[in-house]
Amino acid sequence: MDKKKILKTYFGYDSFRKGQEEIINAVLAGKDAIAIMPTGAGKSLCYQVPALLFEGITLVISPLISLMQDQVKSLNEAGIHAAFINSSLTEAQISKALSLAAKGTYQIIYAAPERLESAGFMQFARQVKISMVTVDEAHCISQWGQDFRPSYLKIVEFIDSLAVRPVVSAFTATATKEVKEDIECILKLKDPDVVITGFDRENLYYSVEHVSGKRKDAFVMDYIGKHPDESGIIYCATRKNVDVLYEELFKLGIPVTRYHAGMNNEERKKSQDDFIYDRAPVIVATNAFGMGIDKSNVRFVIHYNMPQSMENYYQEAGRAGRDGGNARCILLFSAQDIMIGKFLLDKKEFEGTDIEDIEFIKQRDLYRLHIMEEYCKTTQCLRNYILKYFGEKVAAPCENCGNCHHQYEEVDMTKDARWVINCLAETRGRYGLNIVAGTLLGANRARLKEIGAVSYQSYGVLSNRTEPDIRLLIEQMIREGYVIQTEGEYSVLRIGDISGLKKENAYVGIRKLEEKKAPELKKKKAKSTDALTGAGYQLFEKLRQLRLVIAKEEGMPPYIIFSDKTLIDMCAKHPENEEEMLGVSGVGENKLHKYGQRFLDEIAAFTEENPKAVVSMSEEGNMSKTEA
Ligand code: ADP
Ligand code: MG
Repeated sequence: MDKKKILKTYFGYDSFRKGQEEIINAVLAGKDAIAIMPTGAGKSLCYQVPALLFEGITLVISPLISLMQDQVKSLNEAGIHAAFINSSLTEAQISKALSLAAKGTYQIIYAAPERLESAGFMQFARQVKISMVTVDEAHCISQWGQDFRPSYLKIVEFIDSLAVRPVVSAFTATATKEVKEDIECILKLKDPDVVITGFDRENLYYSVEHVSGKRKDAFVMDYIGKHPDESGIIYCATRKNVDVLYEELFKLGIPVTRYHAGMNNEERKKSQDDFIYDRAPVIVATNAFGMGIDKSNVRFVIHYNMPQSMENYYQEAGRAGRDGGNARCILLFSAQDIMIGKFLLDKKEFEGTDIEDIEFIKQRDLYRLHIMEEYCKTTQCLRNYILKYFGEKVAAPCENCGNCHHQYEEVDMTKDARWVINCLAETRGRYGLNIVAGTLLGANRARLKEIGAVSYQSYGVLSNRTEPDIRLLIEQMIREGYVIQTEGEYSVLRIGDISGLKKENAYVGIRKLEEKKAPELKKKKAKSTDALTGAGYQLFEKLRQLRLVIAKEEGMPPYIIFSDKTLIDMCAKHPENEEEMLGVSGVGENKLHKYGQRFLDEIAAFTEENPKAVVSMSEEGNMSKTEA
């Protein structure tokens, strides 16, 4: 078999995605390789396909037991012999697995890095042919990242101790230069082929909603109400928030579960399983949840509070849409979130850290919080904001995020900007945003009388504006450097470099969100339920139910049986026989034999009941088949 045939037969896919073929070709040619590809890009296939073509065993080092189990289940479902060896097995099970492996039963073996140091494992490794060592989540080797695992440093010793050096390949979604260099150096890769695909996740739709207080709860309930049965994660900043929101959703009869570090191990394990097995497709959680979760059918990730950094946000939001289907990442922002963020940073413990490092880390944390705040406030393309932050080149606005879909009204506030500077001259840089905005607005506040602001020339000069507009203006002036906002608890506003503002052609404007949404913009790649008609969606629901039934029978998470994307493709292609079923993306031969008939029957039954139904539309808006 060649690689294309393997892709189709075992995994049910017709073509490789960006970067996959390059990596596969490199390792098959005996070269080391590093692949840096975003979450959900399909890194696993890059080592699984060659593993089936190599003569010996491919050993995959993976940091987490849950990840290994997931991968092995998926492979077994695809009809590939694979096993994992980690501390979830008893010694007896391990020796059994190793003796089977020595006989050549498995082409792919997953192991935790600690395992490489065990004598039993070493002995095994010396007596078999290991063709490739793959280091998954390879950023764990670097101390630059958040997930550093000291035992990853042992991998290279292990490789060196083998009689014949295998091909070494490394995979990660962390794109920074430091991490890449660490991987290359520490693993002692030999002139590796490096494949870096873009960091962008096209199937994720980002948006920020400015809502505060209890309106956030209403937003979440409304969203879930409009997207019943979809699987999603709601991240909250605190345990208390998790508990409150969870209770509210639970009372409404929503199949929801929760997860935070205040729960005991057993409770957490149960919550996680309920979520993974879709018994409770919605989970409310703190950021303690998610490591090692590879659930592919998460359709939305809502952040109830602003996260602490873009790094966190990208990782958490990135748990949506791993199957490549469309998914939404929504951040609910209110000004209070900034306070919560600062409060959480203040509480952060630094036990065992050098004093100098503490100062450095504190500054860095504040900076990261600020970046997040700007993300919440920007009116520019959100996707580009993220990509720029991670050092990618960006092109035109993406036309596929909340900001690109909103209309903004541009308001010229150049004259008002000059008044802001006058006001700062009068306050002599002693006061913060509240007082300055209140003064310009001419607000009737005791504090303004107390400090004498009511007698300033600038008092009330902008009374024709609203307070939010004045705040937007001052924030814009801070960004442009005309105003300086000091750091710290009592942050005050001072005059910055205003030479630009004195010029004749000076311009300061703000962009206000218009209530009205821009007309639906052309969707990019509508391979989602969006392509389904009402009837198609009904069929999708039926198939999803069937998947749940099968998952229960097999004791397997539903997304391992078939991904959402595969079910959607079934609705769109509407197969009537086994051959057509094989044409569905994600249906390989093994799964066809195991489940194909039951899905064909379900589809046929649906058609019989709804003979005239049109289940899907192509991107051009043409009806697809099914007309009886
Ligand atoms: P990563 O490890 O890069 O985060 P995975 O390897 O878990 O991503 O793959 C994510 C999803 O993409 C899986 O559901 C996988 O089956 C699917 N996938 C991978 N390669 C392809 C392909 N060539 N065509 C279609 N789907 C693919
Ligand atoms: Mg992966």
